[in-house]
Amino acid sequence: MTPEQFRLHGHRMIDWLAEYMTHIREYPVVSPSQPGELIDALPPSAPEHPEPMDNIFAGFQEQILPAITHWNHPRFHAFFSVSAAPEGILAELLTAGLNVNGMLWKSCPAATELEQVTTSWLRQWLGLPEDFFGMIHDTASTGVMHVLAAARQYADAPLADLVLYCSEHTHSSVEKAAATIGLTALQVRKIGVDPFFRMDPALLARAVQEDIVAGRRPFCVVATTGATPAASIDPVPAIADIAQRHALWLHVDAAYGGSAAIVEERRGVLAGAERAHSLIVNPHKWMLTPIDCSVLYTTRPEMLRAAFSLVPEFLRTADDPRALNLMEYSLPLGRRFRALKLWFVMRAWGRERIAAMIDDHCHWARELASWIEEHPDFEIAAPVELSLVCFRHRAGDAAGRRLLDAVNASGFAFLSHAVLDGRFVLRFAIGNYQTTRDDVRAVWDRIVALAA
Ligand code: PLP
Repeated sequence: MTPEQFRLHGHRMIDWLAEYMTHIREYPVVSPSQPGELIDALPPSAPEHPEPMDNIFAGFQEQILPAITHWNHPRFHAFFSVSAAPEGILAELLTAGLNVNGMLWKSCPAATELEQVTTSWLRQWLGLPEDFFGMIHDTASTGVMHVLAAARQYADAPLADLVLYCSEHTHSSVEKAAATIGLTALQVRKIGVDPFFRMDPALLARAVQEDIVAGRRPFCVVATTGATPAASIDPVPAIADIAQRHALWLHVDAAYGGSAAIVEERRGVLAGAERAHSLIVNPHKWMLTPIDCSVLYTTRPEMLRAAFSLVPEFLRTADDPRALNLMEYSLPLGRRFRALKLWFVMRAWGRERIAAMIDDHCHWARELASWIEEHPDFEIAAPVELSLVCFRHRAGDAAGRRLLDAVNASGFAFLSHAVLDGRFVLRFAIGNYQTTRDDVRAVWDRIVALAA
């Protein structure tokens, strides 16, 4: 492709994306594609000869697009709702164009230093202490694997003795991370929750005590701010007391909920997190940054380095205290320039505008909860702490499942589910910058109509 052709096709694709953003509500949120349909529609092997861009782009529109579930859609309310702001999309384009690998400071000073700058800016927005060292991973799942490896290093005890604590509502990525560092399922203790789905600190204290008496080595506890099933917020200050008493590494999973601390009046969501050894927040969830961008903070970066630094001769560079080689703090050698999109988003939106969006989402969630409470056929299933509303149909689980299937099949909106207290609930998450109060109302009206 010549630079002129690149310009031509680039303009066409930006035009297409601009139209896509403008008319995104016209797309079905959930792809109607059937399993295997796209595979069957595409040739079984790659082309032998070059194909024109026009054909490839036509293939994108005709074949790929129908199999897209539109995560950027303002009525995508499943899981935790996300969005990619246009500024972040443009930064991704630049990132791909530059194609740098930020494994070492020397391999790309901008990638390394902008990561330090953006994570420091975000740390200030979240009200976290200055000694929180930040780095960017693709996902919170990757980040927590690194956290557990650092915590294992910190414990300095035989692997077989270690015990990790989390709650019944902790994200499954923590168990996966535990398995990855070599813990068995028996070494992960899931602590019970209170009636509002928050980890019960008394049960945690008892479990830790039992393990100590049995000769095991409690080494880490994971608390969550905005847990996946119902967005419950664990009592981090009480958990931090227990962690401190027993020299446990305290990790706070704030992948979703942490962003709420950008709103000054909501800073309380991270109460106690200043005592954590590590914390993860995902700007790719509620902070407009295109997937993937997950920030891992730790007050003990030297533990990450102890776990992951292995520098072969060909990667050795001159020592300079300001030249950080991030590959020494994580498993991957190659590092994408993820900080650029975060920088674009933070600058283009500013704290105030992001905070206003998050605050709106939390208010609309409460308003939605009030409509649900007023309706005789529905009930709220969990406190609405942030921008997630869990509710159930009073006719029971089967009716709830049918309703969820009907909403998602309608193409109008996408909701997901959880099981709380053994009962099926629908989850309605708000988190997209294009979502309006009218969207939330329209989806609720559609739910009511379909239920009827
Ligand atoms: N932690 C929480 C609370 C989550 O809700 C999620 C995903 O939704 C994760 C961790 C995992 O995030 P990621 O997809 O970045 O691995």
